[in-house]
Amino acid sequence: MLKLKEMAKKQKGNLILLGVYAFFSGASILGQAYLFATIIDGVFLKGVPFSDITTLLAGLLFVLFARTLFNYLIGKTGIKMASRVKRGLRQFLLRTYSNTTLQSSIHGQSGQKVSVLLDAVDKVDSYFSKYIPKIFQATIIPVLIFIVIFFEHVPTGVIILITAPFIPIYMVVIGFKTKDKSEEQLHKMAAFSGKFLDTLQGLTTLKLFGHSQKQKEEIRKSSLEFRDATMDVLKIAFQNSLILEFVSMLSIGLIALEVAIRMIIFQDLSFYTGFLMLILAPEFYNKLKELGSAFHTGKGSIGAANVIEEELENTFAPVTWGEEHLDEKTPPTIVLSKAGFRYGDAGFSLTNINLVIHPYENVAIVGKTGSGKTTLLHVLAGLFPLTAGKILINGNPRDMYKEEEWFGGVSYISQSPYLFSGTIAENIAVGSRHSTTMEEIEHAGEKAGIAEVVRSLADGYDTKIGEVGRGLSGGEKQRIAIARAFLKRPSVILFDEPTTGLDLYTERILQESLDELSRNATVITVAHRLHTIQRADKIMVMEDGKIITAGTHQELLNHALYKRMVSVQQGGA
Ligand code: ADP
Repeated sequence: MLKLKEMAKKQKGNLILLGVYAFFSGASILGQAYLFATIIDGVFLKGVPFSDITTLLAGLLFVLFARTLFNYLIGKTGIKMASRVKRGLRQFLLRTYSNTTLQSSIHGQSGQKVSVLLDAVDKVDSYFSKYIPKIFQATIIPVLIFIVIFFEHVPTGVIILITAPFIPIYMVVIGFKTKDKSEEQLHKMAAFSGKFLDTLQGLTTLKLFGHSQKQKEEIRKSSLEFRDATMDVLKIAFQNSLILEFVSMLSIGLIALEVAIRMIIFQDLSFYTGFLMLILAPEFYNKLKELGSAFHTGKGSIGAANVIEEELENTFAPVTWGEEHLDEKTPPTIVLSKAGFRYGDAGFSLTNINLVIHPYENVAIVGKTGSGKTTLLHVLAGLFPLTAGKILINGNPRDMYKEEEWFGGVSYISQSPYLFSGTIAENIAVGSRHSTTMEEIEHAGEKAGIAEVVRSLADGYDTKIGEVGRGLSGGEKQRIAIARAFLKRPSVILFDEPTTGLDLYTERILQESLDELSRNATVITVAHRLHTIQRADKIMVMEDGKIITAGTHQELLNHALYKRMVSVQQGGA
């Protein structure tokens, strides 16, 4: 549960500071009022000479300065609290996202996630930078003022006692409405961001299929919904300040009327006291009004915190890791025992997977499209958590080991590896956890067979490639991924073989690179080429999320499904 209150309580030091500052700020407001009343009373009614009030004027100046100073300190403390909380929240969200990279990317849109990470977290800001400081000011200062008013002139105190409670009561009523509306607004905002990014990334597809007009319409609709939700929140905010303004004006008017009647008609109230009341009453209601608007922002922040929490609940529970050491450089024995994995509650599932992969073995996974080969590769890589059964590495549950040592030994070459926006060199260097020299990168590029392509580019390894690796073909992207593997020298290689036919040259390079890598590693390939399948030490045939049979090529030739698949391959070749 993401309780903003709990987070605030963790910053005890700052809360105490806020209380102290608020007290002194209240004291300077009172001092200011007393000095004002004394000076005006002395100069205009008692005819005190100007020279006698210079010390009072100096005091007034001092008090005004103190009031400004404490207000500044209150604001600063609030911002300090907010930035600490926001930093913590963002780090937490980022950690959650990155711990569950693949799992969470299954759900939702990236734009939506960015919106939660940036906008919703920013919304939480005002809880700490505005709401909490105002709560301190709006409770401590009015109480101080109220005590003084009661002490000086009881009837004004009584009027305040009757009218003031309306403000908090009204606020409580309005607060709940705001919370819901503001949650809705953030949802709309996230939906809008998500839709926008999604459309941007799929622009080519949309254009090709003539859907861009429809998508434009949807973005328009999404943005209008966001506008309406924003307007709703603003409407409540304006209504809110109108009512607060109204109640406080009415109360101040009442106090002024009472003071005037006492001074002019009954003449039983001194100018000094009456004037003091007229200075203090607006200060009192101003603070209460500020509490009202702070309450509004506070509830908005709580709404935002709920949105963040929902987002966190939507991501998978991360794979947890232990502290045991694992030798990254020696291939481990991998055993899956009754292992299962399921996408979501009712999605596709892998069931009862039993297999043993010995060090340096060359394993091929085959099966029809959609049989679960890629999913099994993800599970083997440790990107998806098992939902049933066990995965043992060298006889121990995998989650006993340190995360970085497991991943330090694994290279996963997917069908379309992700390239970050940056240079080719930077993208290859991703493969190493240590800093790499240009020589090492060039060497890896050479081994991966990308060097020739790079040489043909004007900027060579410094050529910038865009987001999603614009400007490189699928085969080239895979070769960059292989170059990463050459830097990393993994002990386990997971390879999703290209389904599309590569040209002979590229195919030979890929084969040679993998052969070299496999000398020091176990290789598990989702295989499409007969060549790969025939050379494998072990072939696993998948259907509907299960391994239906396993063996060598010779052994499997008696298997009907396998034979059919192979003959299709041969027909294609
Ligand atoms: P293969 O690699 O054998 O073609 P996959 O492992 O990619 O098969 O997919 C197996 C099944 O899992 C498919 O039916 C697919 O719809 C489903 N699937 C794949 N990825 C996801 C995902 N991210 N969320 C839910 N279902 C998925």
